Amino acid sequence: MPSSGLDAESLEIALESIRDFAKQNLSPEVLLDFDARDEMPVELVRQMCGPELGAQLLFIPEEFGGMGGAAFDVYRTCETLARIDVGVATGLLATFLGSDPVRVGGSPEQKQLWMTRIAEEGILMAYGATEPEAGSDLAALRTTATPVEEQGAVVGYRLNGRKQWISNGGVAEVATILALAPGGPSWFIVERDTEGFGHERPEDKHGIRLSNTAALTLDDVYVPADRLVGGVEGQGLMQALAVFGYTRLMVAAFGLGAGWAALDVALDYSKERVQAGSPLSEKRGYTHKLIVPHVARLEAARAYVEETAAALDALDEPEGHYITEGAIAKYLASEAGNRAADAAIQALGGYGYTREYQVEKFKRDVRITTIYEGTSEIMEMSVSRDRWQLHLKTRGQHYAERARELFALEAAQPGCGGEAAGLALSALGVSLERARVARLTRHQHVLLRLGEMICLAEGAAAAARRAAARRSGERPEKADARFEPEVLAALARIYGREAALEVAGCAMRWITGAASGAASELSAFAADLRLDDIHRTQCGGVEDMDLVADALLANT
Ligand SMILES: Cc1cc2nc3c(=O)[nH]c(=O)nc-3n(C[C@H](O)[C@H](O)[C@H](O)COP(=O)(O)OP(=O)(O)OC[C@H]3O[C@@H](n4cnc5c(N)ncnc54)[C@H](O)[C@@H]3O)c2cc1C
Repeated sequence: MPSSGLDAESLEIALESIRDFAKQNLSPEVLLDFDARDEMPVELVRQMCGPELGAQLLFIPEEFGGMGGAAFDVYRTCETLARIDVGVATGLLATFLGSDPVRVGGSPEQKQLWMTRIAEEGILMAYGATEPEAGSDLAALRTTATPVEEQGAVVGYRLNGRKQWISNGGVAEVATILALAPGGPSWFIVERDTEGFGHERPEDKHGIRLSNTAALTLDDVYVPADRLVGGVEGQGLMQALAVFGYTRLMVAAFGLGAGWAALDVALDYSKERVQAGSPLSEKRGYTHKLIVPHVARLEAARAYVEETAAALDALDEPEGHYITEGAIAKYLASEAGNRAADAAIQALGGYGYTREYQVEKFKRDVRITTIYEGTSEIMEMSVSRDRWQLHLKTRGQHYAERARELFALEAAQPGCGGEAAGLALSALGVSLERARVARLTRHQHVLLRLGEMICLAEGAAAAARRAAARRSGERPEKADARFEPEVLAALARIYGREAALEVAGCAMRWITGAASGAASELSAFAADLRLDDIHRTQCGGVEDMDLVADALLANT
């Protein structure tokens, strides 16, 4: 059955209880103090997983005592948590990640035991995949799992190795550890007090200082055979991959939460701060550089996150699906969150650079979202490879068709951002074809830049679809409702223009940059990219920025 998860009212109640908990226990002063001391508020995180709040229950299927939250619920919850603190959110994410191999690949008995323990006891978990030499390339892992046999049967395993940068590493009761068994990489469940299992001092980090990140050491750690997740060796990488759709969506939601938290501080500040005789909020050189474009990027990312969450929730068995879409969502939201938080520091001037207003902390915290759960460059690579296959399979028609859909949307809903998005998609299709003919993806740089272009164009399309749907009165019940349809349409136009220009600019720079003898074909390539139309579609850009700035300032 497709998972609808919580009803809208229950979700809202759950989010409200998290906000209330934060109001009472995690005030800005408390957060800044933990941040300064570089300390995880372990007891508060445990309290969040305790009987009163039960924040972890949202991630756990109902059959094991959880609330059975769907992807949409998980996204909204992760955004809410990240608005409070990305470090605290990471502490909860780590339990979700740690239990994921079991939830996806565990035997019925393993699921029953461990998922129920998380639900009932609120235990914290850690997810031990990364190693000193195996980061983005997990297949290079060196931690070993050596079978221990008795009378010809495997009764257990001895684990040896080291795991690096593990969230909750120093505080979790249970960790899942990826190790190389004779049959291939496999997940093992290891409890904290197991002999030979240890952790090192918490890392001194740039941000998310309210999370505990520590290396794990495994020195001849013995686990019985029933701790091998799923009971079959060699399933580990597949089990890790199966949940990327979900987990990357969660980190995307962190980008949205932290990025918006920073922008909201900047918005409030801009109304109070008077310079040259009037509040900063009235200065369009300020709002149109430091606020509005970031809102447009975050909301395009949100449109993509919401589409992906809804698509996952529509499937009977979402595991293993929408992995590329999860990567695009993560890329868009984490990059947008970083840029927004950086702009928020600028928007507060000297006050932004000091600690009181929290924006410099948001910036340090949100930085992690482009690194963990797959770096931005790895997202670019996997997105590019996947869509490249689609381009080849459809003989270059995939993005041409998507562009036609967006032009049709624009015709049906003029001003929804469909035209600019269609131009971005069309330029993308032309670029991919050009790259195919000239064999340019042999340059890794071109492959990754294509990945970025794909994310931008698909983000613009999602923003336009969301704006068109809202205008027609369609809004998923659980979707974010901050903006009126006309503001969403202006945001989609702003983002679409930027995306189209960036895609075409990237094509002119790198496709041309990598192709030999391309100079003589420049004007033909520019015409194929529809550069003139892309420039024409910039008309009205300032007016749309005005509209969004007015709406933002009226609503904060
Ligand atoms: C605070 C924090 C918490 C974390 N929590 C966890 C956790 O709970 N569990 C866990 O298992 N891991 C965790 N990680 C690890 C995290 O997932 C890795 O840091 C991340 O996957 C990148 O791996 P790496 O650090 O080894 O960098 P590398 O893989 O060495 O990458 C370094 C740089 O090279 C780029 N790069 C890498 N490969 C390529 C390539 N093929 N082509 C082009 N560029 C490339 C990357 O994009 C990056 O910019 C955490 C990390 C941090 C910092």
